[in-house]
Amino acid sequence: MTQTLPDLPYAIDALAPLISAETLEYHHGKHHATYVTKLNGLIEGTSLADWPLDELVVKANEAPAEIRKPLFNNAAQHLNHSFYWQCLRPVGGDGPTGSLAAAIDGAFGDFDAFKESFTNESVNHFGSGWGWLVKKADGSIGVTSTHDAGNPLTDGETPLLTCDVWEHAYYIDYRNARPKYLASYWDLVNWEFVAANFEA
Ligand code: FE
Repeated sequence: MTQTLPDLPYAIDALAPLISAETLEYHHGKHHATYVTKLNGLIEGTSLADWPLDELVVKANEAPAEIRKPLFNNAAQHLNHSFYWQCLRPVGGDGPTGSLAAAIDGAFGDFDAFKESFTNESVNHFGSGWGWLVKKADGSIGVTSTHDAGNPLTDGETPLLTCDVWEHAYYIDYRNARPKYLASYWDLVNWEFVAANFEA
């Protein structure tokens, strides 16, 4: 089994102008595609090709030592990007409701305080990485960030929502202005997807 680049769950221009078609052409069609190609180059013809993607991430240190690092990096970037595309949708949907909204209020006070926490974590994350809302092993939720290809699964936390803060996610549309990208991000979050992750 080889890993495949998932189609975007919306048209290439569906997030414009907040995230342009040009950004998605490069981010999905070049960056994400390259991670998939490199991952397949590492696993094809080996027993690793039978592993589910999340196991390639969580158990990368069980692979042969000489490929552990590139295996983790390319598998996690494939997983992270596949998840990120689903976290977004065109402007206009609902915000969080039901048990997810209650959990956000319980953990952060209210929705605006959650947005501020997630935004600060993502904007202030040094260098390349990812901002996350996660569900922890005890069922509580929290905000965190990971460096480079990192994914909270390796810390036993379940991803609910992510924001890609690598420069390639925003440089075409916002140049170096990561805070402006985060401001737009909130208009694009697919809260139905986040709620489904929370209730799973
Ligand atoms: Fe990215």
